[in-house]
Amino acid sequence: MTDEQGTSSAILVVGGGISGLTAALEAAEVGNDVFLIDKNAYFGGRVAQLNQYFPKLCPPSCGLEINFRRVRDNRKIRTYTLTTVKSISGSAGNYEVTLEIAPRYVNSNCAACGSCAEVCTDEIDNEFNFGLDKIKAVYLPHEMAFPRRYVIAKDHLSEESKKAILAACKYKGIDLDMETQYVTIKVGSIIWATGWNPYEPTKMENLGYASSNAVVTNMELERLAAPGGPTNGAILRPGDNKEIESIAFVQCAGSRDENHLEYCSHICCMATMKQMTYVRERYPDAEIYVFYIDLRTPGKYEHFREKLMSDEKAHFIKGKYRCKSPPESGYGCAGHRHAAIT
Ligand SMILES: Cc1cc2nc3c(=O)[nH]c(=O)nc-3n(C[C@H](O)[C@H](O)[C@H](O)COP(=O)(O)OP(=O)(O)OC[C@H]3O[C@@H](n4cnc5c(N)ncnc54)[C@H](O)[C@@H]3O)c2cc1C
Repeated sequence: MTDEQGTSSAILVVGGGISGLTAALEAAEVGNDVFLIDKNAYFGGRVAQLNQYFPKLCPPSCGLEINFRRVRDNRKIRTYTLTTVKSISGSAGNYEVTLEIAPRYVNSNCAACGSCAEVCTDEIDNEFNFGLDKIKAVYLPHEMAFPRRYVIAKDHLSEESKKAILAACKYKGIDLDMETQYVTIKVGSIIWATGWNPYEPTKMENLGYASSNAVVTNMELERLAAPGGPTNGAILRPGDNKEIESIAFVQCAGSRDENHLEYCSHICCMATMKQMTYVRERYPDAEIYVFYIDLRTPGKYEHFREKLMSDEKAHFIKGKYRCKSPPESGYGCAGHRHAAIT
């Protein structure tokens, strides 16, 4: 749609996490045409990977589902997954954007019945669970994936699996000849909602992530606690599946540190408080240690923090955490049975 000056009111939203979904919906609901793209095979971004989210402490499906439905029902929004921006030309009001769409090898006939995954014998690391488990090379990215359509990691498929999945699909939903596609669109404005990535934990050598299975990141802990995660929500120590006796949370890991990121992540204190509730729910006797510099839980979250700090088996220790050589036994630093880097 363009006005008499040739300015387009169409909008490209790059990134379909909660920010991009919200931006796309609000722009479309006031009448703009919207192109919503995500490089992943699904929308929802990092929120989809959380076990629960504050303030309500409910599963992410309760917030994301309604937005997915609004996107599905809104004819003004066109969605593209496995898609990135290849090039942009023009200027504000008149951009020409080329989108690059990677092949999914599964078309819109897919009924997500799972017959293909049943017969596929090849496995890959489960990226959604940060490689903590394996999935078939033909997979639904996660249980509530939108769009609800399988993806094929073609490079990891043996010839036998290729034949088996083609034979198993009753809907002609598999197309192993799919190629990268390019689509050019005209938009007046572009919203970048590309979100964030976890900081590389091996860079903080003193925390022993690379040398101990007991050390996990806060996002890995979300997946360990999630019903659809690698342990079906049990929170077991990676490597030996031991249940938690004690757990240490290390705050500001990589944040507010001139050797890493100088700024506060804004979220990790709240994430730890939330994850303490996961631990306490499953392990009423576990000792919980929190190493922190400052605790930042503003506004109404102060009450949440106070409640968790009143837990008799929770110990808050102010100071920087140092652990140069974690024991090789697989135990985390300071002898705790689990250590979560947050
Ligand atoms: C451990 C932890 C727990 C948290 N718990 C909570 C909580 O309980 N409640 C809460 O409100 N917040 C929580 N957060 C914060 C929450 O995860 C973020 O607020 C949220 O993810 C921000 O959404 P977003 O859409 O901006 O970014 P993201 O969720 O990162 O989504 C960005 C999207 O953009 C896509 N993308 C990136 N680059 C490109 C590209 N070049 N082209 C196309 N697509 C691209 C990505 O694939 C992704 O889908 C938590 C964070 C952490 C670390």
